[in-house]
Amino acid sequence: MAGEPQADCLFCKIVTGEVPATVVRETATTVAFRDINPQAPTHILVIPKAHYADAASLASAEPTLAADVLREAGEVAAEEKIDGSGFRVVFNTGAGAGQTVFHAHAHVLGGRGLQWPPG
Ligand code: 5GP
Ligand code: ZN
Repeated sequence: MAGEPQADCLFCKIVTGEVPATVVRETATTVAFRDINPQAPTHILVIPKAHYADAASLASAEPTLAADVLREAGEVAAEEKIDGSGFRVVFNTGAGAGQTVFHAHAHVLGGRGLQWPPG
């Protein structure tokens, strides 16, 4: 069923605590934790607790949950104090765009100057 936990999904295991992570925020529907391989001084992943393969699938199936993820991206940026200097929210979608974990996640990046356009 849509949104159900997937046994072989790394981020579903972070939701249950089976795989440890440095969690910075948690709500009833989302978890935010530090990326294990940060690409900026602040690099946090915000995920829905429910499993969807990518952000577009999440938004189609549960738009309010997609909005929860976006709101949490903003809350994380404020807590990390990168909201003033600027931050980037990225949803890599598909292997060709660099997606390696197929459980929807927002990258929240900041704390340094960010190039545009990204590579
Ligand atoms: P993607 O490439 O799918 O857009 O992003 C996946 C992200 O998950 C990568 O930035 C990668 O560093 C991060 N990641 C992969 N495995 C783990 C893990 O076990 N723990 C944490 N905290 N981050 C992970
Ligand atoms: Zn999952």
